[in-house]
Amino acid sequence: MIWYPYQQMKTMKAPFQIVDAQGVYLRTPEREMIDSVSSWWSVIHGYKHPTLTRAIQDQAGKFCHVMLGGLTHEPVQKLSAKLEQWLPGDLDCCFFSDSGSVAMEVSLKMALQYYMNRGDKSRTKVLALEHAYHGDTFKAMEVGDDEDYHFVLEAYGEKTDVIHIPTRIDALEEAFARCHERLNSFIVEPLLQGAGGMRMYDIAFLKRARELCDQYDVLLIFDEVATGFGRTGNRFVADLVQPDILVLGKALTGGYIGHAATVASRRVFSGFYSDDPAKALMHGPTFMGNALACAAALESIRLFEEEDYMSKIARIEAITRREMAGFGDERIKEVRIMGGCVCVEVKDPKVLEGYQQFAYEHGVFSRPFLSYMYAMVPYVIEEEELVRVLDTMKAWFRR
Ligand SMILES: *Cc1c(COP(=O)(O)O)cnc(C)c1O
Repeated sequence: MIWYPYQQMKTMKAPFQIVDAQGVYLRTPEREMIDSVSSWWSVIHGYKHPTLTRAIQDQAGKFCHVMLGGLTHEPVQKLSAKLEQWLPGDLDCCFFSDSGSVAMEVSLKMALQYYMNRGDKSRTKVLALEHAYHGDTFKAMEVGDDEDYHFVLEAYGEKTDVIHIPTRIDALEEAFARCHERLNSFIVEPLLQGAGGMRMYDIAFLKRARELCDQYDVLLIFDEVATGFGRTGNRFVADLVQPDILVLGKALTGGYIGHAATVASRRVFSGFYSDDPAKALMHGPTFMGNALACAAALESIRLFEEEDYMSKIARIEAITRREMAGFGDERIKEVRIMGGCVCVEVKDPKVLEGYQQFAYEHGVFSRPFLSYMYAMVPYVIEEEELVRVLDTMKAWFRR
């Protein structure tokens, strides 16, 4: 049997059976529906994109995978060269892994060892945000601020190596003043906190964080697994404020094959570059640099650039603002829009019970969680399709 994610298996409703997918549409045996979730925010070009499918097929004709221990290949070389050129500043050093959570673990391990390699063993703490989500592996859960982690706290007691702060500059300054000597890194989902509830905050917070990290010699890590590749309306938030380590995942391959990257600046890399083998980064996921994933990622980035995806995202945001203008309901706490993300937060999660089925009947796949009804559509969506997604969200409150 399949053990499904984030579900009580005893009470879970049967998932939709997907038999085909094309463009923004998922097809069940009964009907087709627009995927307003982009398969967990990753399928930015839609499904069965001929260019991506062909890139994978062509690479499969050569080899699907070889390990990166002692071997290398053109797709991974080209992808790292592309990212080096494409990402801002000196974010040049790409460590690949098979999922966002693992790439996060790598970033945290990098930050800790960066100081250890300098003989500084006191910087064991990580500063993070309230409502943060960085993945489901253990350290990623720990830097996260998620109720799903609470069973661990029950078992082991309070966590002491992670400090959580709200996205307020006074709280940020206070935390740095109080514990900068013990911090190796400050980790954030920049501008948009996804799984923590599509929470949006101001760039001024990140600019101040950059200053404080410089002042106190703390590494700034951006988890752009969700925000990267345009979701916030910026190509990367790292284009606005440069982190020392940037983590990419989800849309990296256009959502075609799971892959992720932890991209370090030259300065971070140089903290490991040594004649001493003990200073090496001891990590190596079996499927890092998978050739099919790299081939898909290269084509995904090429499409993103050549077909001017940033203007597609600006259009999605403009249509969303137009359609949601003036929309409100007493059961709604807030409507938030940023780039290719719209979230309707309700006051009581019960308000959203039954919405997924309602959306399905209206030809939209949606997956609300807790108090959040949201859409993060594939960027190739047509205007009328996007309007249908937004109309479905609004119609739920007008029944
Ligand atoms: C999804 C997500 C992760 C984890 O990525 P996986 O590929 O699911 O392991 C980490 N950080 C953020 C911000 C995410 O949205």
